[in-house]
Amino acid sequence: MTAKRGPIPRPGILDIVPYVPGTGGLPGAEPVVKLSSNETPLGASARAVEAYLAQTPQLARYPDGSARPLREALAKKYGLDAARIVCGAGSDELLNMLALAYLGPGDEAIYSEHGFLVYKIAIMARGATPIAAPERDLTTDVDAILARVTDATRMVFIANPNNPTGTYLPFDEVKRLHAGLPENVILVLDAAYAEYVRANDYEAGIELVATTPNTVMTRTFSKIYGLAALRLGWVYCPAPIADALNRIRGPFNVTGPSIAAGVAALQDQAHMEQAVEHNMVWRGRMAEALEQLGLRVTRSAANFLLVHFPAGVASNSESAAGKSAREADRFLHERRIILRRVEEYGFPDALRLTIGTEDENRAVLDALTEFMGKDT
Ligand SMILES: *Cc1c(COP(=O)(O)O)cnc(C)c1O
Repeated sequence: MTAKRGPIPRPGILDIVPYVPGTGGLPGAEPVVKLSSNETPLGASARAVEAYLAQTPQLARYPDGSARPLREALAKKYGLDAARIVCGAGSDELLNMLALAYLGPGDEAIYSEHGFLVYKIAIMARGATPIAAPERDLTTDVDAILARVTDATRMVFIANPNNPTGTYLPFDEVKRLHAGLPENVILVLDAAYAEYVRANDYEAGIELVATTPNTVMTRTFSKIYGLAALRLGWVYCPAPIADALNRIRGPFNVTGPSIAAGVAALQDQAHMEQAVEHNMVWRGRMAEALEQLGLRVTRSAANFLLVHFPAGVASNSESAAGKSAREADRFLHERRIILRRVEEYGFPDALRLTIGTEDENRAVLDALTEFMGKDT
């Protein structure tokens, strides 16, 4: 006997573990120190805010359907072909559009073990099979990825630098990864944190996109540009991939105020440089101070640190008792400080800390000093 039942999602959908964003707030009226979502402590450029507000008389009008002013501004800034840029409601939308265009049941897509969770969700939403490749030293391992390529592989997703580890792959390694992939496999280089990287051996992906038929690079205005609320991202692709994305894209997927704010943000180079500088200084100071507390910090090229706490259960050391990531998180919440739990990324003993304002950073250090019992 069959019971009455309602609509059933396609195979794979209900196997998806829903994405849980960083905690946004805490109960009560007092302000919180929110360092859980890798937003910039400097906020958006004043010029971007002004451009956004200047759009209010136009709210009744549909925006430019292909976000042309923004694509042209990006093309000019980076020396790219505007026709090969596709804009989206955050890079999340673009990652999902790529999966929609190129993945289906029976296909496989590879991502790294501690990679950004959106990849797995985008893959599974298409009924395709997610394949996790182990990392080495909490860094994407090119050989491990190449070893998992099969006839069914269609895409490889890499965040470079990766979230939540903050580690990056040098350009030589990215090229080696690309060289090992069949031409029908798309290499997705998610460079959400590219602007923060100051390393001579790093390249976000523009060169590979320009010179190969199967590399794409996604970027976002959510991080260094401080426009996360607007949902604005872009992807640079080979022309046939841009064409495929434009066929499935919502005809007005990016809002008019977002386009205007994005164009203005690109023009405010000084604001961006200030954000890079602030991050460099405070990332270094925070890593050093946390290590002095006895915590282990993964070396990061981005605007956050993965902070490892003594393992709760596994540790038999007396001094480590009560010092787990879970307990630290609770302790910090009591002081109205929110970091990011990263259990679902495979790090039950770590918290991810976004570099904040000087005051926010000091508040975290004071609280963790107390937590670790190193009060002086
Ligand atoms: C934050 C982040 C993004 C940005 O997503 P948006 O949808 O553009 O806000 C993309 N990839 C990674 C790895 C991120 O951490």
